[in-house]
Amino acid sequence: MRTLITIRKRGAGYIMDVATEHGLVRQGAQCGITPYESATAAASAMAQYAALSSNPDGGDLMAPPEVMEHVPQAWRCIDPQPLQYCVRCEKNTPTRVDGDDLCAICGLFR
Ligand SMILES: [Zn+2]
Repeated sequence: MRTLITIRKRGAGYIMDVATEHGLVRQGAQCGITPYESATAAASAMAQYAALSSNPDGGDLMAPPEVMEHVPQAWRCIDPQPLQYCVRCEKNTPTRVDGDDLCAICGLFR
């Protein structure tokens, strides 16, 4: 399940919900007064909960436009690792996240 991070305006600032495959891991957390502060918190949460090393399915960020414009493009949406055919175990597997060509099931380097 993809991670979903939502940011909403609440009172003077912004709050954040983080939903992962483990459920709602953060709810209504204060994440900044200014859009820039909130964007920083959003990018950080994406790195923590949606990066492929923590969720192979990736994740999405939903935030008001004034917040989203400060979030780097690469941290707004993280797509899953494409599956690749392994010549040894003959399965379609995700390769290792750090970019090496390594089958996640049998460990064959290609
Ligand atoms: Zn393999």
